[in-house]
Amino acid sequence: MSNKSFFEAFRPSVIQYLVAAAALLAGSGAYAEPPAQASTASQERKPNFIIILADDLGYGDLGSFGNPSIQTPNLDKMAAEGLKWTNFYVPDAVCTPSRGALLTGRLPVRIGLATPSPGPRSFRPESLSGMPTSEITIAELLKSDGYVTTAIGKWHLGHLPEFLPTRQGFDSYFGIPYSNDMNKRPGGHNYARYFAEPDISKWDVPLYRDEKQVERPADQFTITKRYTEEAINFIKENTGRPFFVYLAHAMPHGPQFSSKAFTGKSRRGRYGDAVEELDWSVGQILETLREAGLAENTIVVFTSDNGPWLFLRQMGGSAGMLYEGKSTTWEGGARVPTIFWGPGHIAQGRRDGIGSTLDLLPTFSSLANIALPEDRSYDGVDLSAALRVKGESPRKILHYYRRDELYAIRRGRFKAHFVTERQSGGRVEHDSPLLFNIEVDPAERFNIAERHPDVLMALTKLARQHKKNVVPVASEVLKRKPIVD
Ligand code: MG
Repeated sequence: MSNKSFFEAFRPSVIQYLVAAAALLAGSGAYAEPPAQASTASQERKPNFIIILADDLGYGDLGSFGNPSIQTPNLDKMAAEGLKWTNFYVPDAVCTPSRGALLTGRLPVRIGLATPSPGPRSFRPESLSGMPTSEITIAELLKSDGYVTTAIGKWHLGHLPEFLPTRQGFDSYFGIPYSNDMNKRPGGHNYARYFAEPDISKWDVPLYRDEKQVERPADQFTITKRYTEEAINFIKENTGRPFFVYLAHAMPHGPQFSSKAFTGKSRRGRYGDAVEELDWSVGQILETLREAGLAENTIVVFTSDNGPWLFLRQMGGSAGMLYEGKSTTWEGGARVPTIFWGPGHIAQGRRDGIGSTLDLLPTFSSLANIALPEDRSYDGVDLSAALRVKGESPRKILHYYRRDELYAIRRGRFKAHFVTERQSGGRVEHDSPLLFNIEVDPAERFNIAERHPDVLMALTKLARQHKKNVVPVASEVLKRKPIVD
């Protein structure tokens, strides 16, 4: 015991020294730092983690990311108080592989969630499998060190009992097991009509508490509100121990629903109403943390699982200036609006380096001082230093997957496309790959391959090496009953 007290007594000065040294190395003082030393209480406690994941929210759908119509004052404030990360990505721009990668820190091809063409890329009500339980989720990692964990919202990693969140490291679960537009009633394929007329009876989606169905069809009008209340109650009940909340909203995935207070209120139709209710939800959660005295020791990440569903036209989101949307490897599909917040741990400002949802698991593991398992390969990198102190992101390379195939690769500011495909289809294998300077041309309009053959050659070599090292395992998504609709 006396040894521990000795160490604890000297810890503050060591941390202060390290933060100051890193700031000097980064060569800049023009930014706000988190306090070098958090409160005494938080020294003794591991940080809490909250991931708030929106569904199909586009890069251009928040005020702080340039939207001119949708009002998101709470998310904008969160970005102003915390870190807005402008080049943050998902490894595959559809629900199931994106979520599995976020929770495990591993590429979908390694965890049975990358499905060869044709067929669905996400689990469905007909699915007979789920993400393998041999995978280690963020929840399992944190739980092994005494965290209490909860999943609230859309799961989409297997709806059968043996694959639910309660079997993947979460102490409790409240939410819908797959997308809110699944189990359509007859005629449900008429998206234009069904999506335009909010009617929960058209979507026979179950709502679960832990492993039990408690409502069907789920009342989607109140779902954002109820998820929020669930998260708030969980936080209030667990102020005395470290916790992890994975809050994966059903919205603004089509069909959009919002509660009475938000319906018809935005300038962006039902889509805007749903996003503005999400914004309210984020405000409520941050306020709860403040009131409970947990703001200094909690890290909140807000992001999206993929870009906008352009097929829905004005009922879908917007990628802003980025090209294309959900399901593609263009920037509009893979780049997601991301904010880190945590006054005691996260610096204030903006990061333009590359980050990925794959990085959340190694980053949390570092922040909570829990060793990563050594029996498997991780594709995520630890971003914790870049969250605390201004400096370059340690991630230099990004892989863009569609299904089980590497379509594009980015290193630094250059991105090469070997295969392209729009959300609506039209796959093209490029004999001469396309090359873009993403910093100068984030909209990917000007192919500069001819001017930089050396860069293209280097990226092609990197892709070849990656493919040699990462061999896809069989897809669990393929295991399903015949589709009935
Ligand atoms: Mg999605």
